[in-house]
Amino acid sequence: MKTITLRRGKAESLKRFHPWIFSGAIERADEHLEEGELVRIVDFEGKFLAIGHCQIGSIAVRVLTFEEEPINEAFWESRLRKAFAVRKAEGLVHEQSNDIYRLVHGEGDRLPGLVVDVYEDTAVMQAHSVGMHLARHTIAKALVEASEGLIKHVYYKSETTLPFKADLGQENEFLIGQTDRNIASEYGLKFYIDWLRGQKTGFFIDQRENRRLLEHYAKGRRVLNMFCYTGGFSVYALRGGAEVVHSVDSSAKAVELTKSNAALNFPNDHRHEAYAEDAFKYLERMGSEYDLIVLDPPAFAKHKGALRNAIKGYTRLNAIAFEKIKPGGILFTFSCSQAVDKEQFRLAVFTAAARSGRHVRLLHQLHQPADHPISIYHPEGEYLKGLVLQVD
Ligand code: SAH
Repeated sequence: MKTITLRRGKAESLKRFHPWIFSGAIERADEHLEEGELVRIVDFEGKFLAIGHCQIGSIAVRVLTFEEEPINEAFWESRLRKAFAVRKAEGLVHEQSNDIYRLVHGEGDRLPGLVVDVYEDTAVMQAHSVGMHLARHTIAKALVEASEGLIKHVYYKSETTLPFKADLGQENEFLIGQTDRNIASEYGLKFYIDWLRGQKTGFFIDQRENRRLLEHYAKGRRVLNMFCYTGGFSVYALRGGAEVVHSVDSSAKAVELTKSNAALNFPNDHRHEAYAEDAFKYLERMGSEYDLIVLDPPAFAKHKGALRNAIKGYTRLNAIAFEKIKPGGILFTFSCSQAVDKEQFRLAVFTAAARSGRHVRLLHQLHQPADHPISIYHPEGEYLKGLVLQVD
């Protein structure tokens, strides 16, 4: 294994288990290091620090272990067994009629660059680093082993997540097994999961607990689910006894998916309608008919540079909701931009609320669920924030 030596004084964050090495921290590296290769990291005195996957870019290494150990199938299996144990403890693994959960959340599961979502007996695996891509077959095997019979199929979906420049000619494919089953259950509700063509791994698992919370508020309400994608919030609202549920997304495909998911759970239920339209257009045009509004937009800021505009976007979006929501209404509002932190998002939403001149109470402060864990040494792993507010 080749070696990277860190500059003097640059080993401190690694000693605190931060899993990234930035290129600026490197004193020297062995020749011909290839992207994705395993590399040993030593400090300026040559003392072992970590082993990780090498990358091109400002993050030069993603650390897999801080111990001197072989990175082989047993290594992957042991990490994956831990990931399963955590999800079992959370009650997500085939309990409470639930067989949709995130099994691996990158750094949060000490597997930087890897995401694995489980849909019934299929695992959908995404590599965000070339190192994970190169290890995909070994990881897939270890995944099936670690699952003790739960996972039968492993689908690999990294076409859009790998660095374009790496030019790996990768494709989306089954690495193990093959299935065309495409329905899985979240807390007793069924969803079509389009892992072949859908966004991310096909479903936004990270809103599960927040959807369940919305269900408790839905009874007798007129619900608008803006940015509905697969209609997760809509289906929970229907189960919660909403009077009507309107789902909106600019993507016609998302609207179709929402309609099918509503029909899958509540066939011939006329309370639900879905529309393909731009969010701002719809919000400007609508009246004050809704008393439960969900705003779950895509990430407005993909990086820090876009922060100011993103915050303006959140303020503008929420301002319309505060202005138009019926008295007594409840707003569920989210940001999944990692670059916008909790405080900034709160400020944007509170500014919007104040602009409406209405009395607003903060009821809940929401975040990503326990199957999207955050390593305390890697606070960058926190991304999903939500607020539930009541408007007089
Ligand atoms: N709430 C969803 C996830 C939302 S993802 C869930 O629980 O699963 C964000 C969605 O916003 C995507 O489906 C995308 O198509 C949609 N979108 C992006 N820009 C939009 C716009 N300007 N108007 C309406 N929808 C938009």
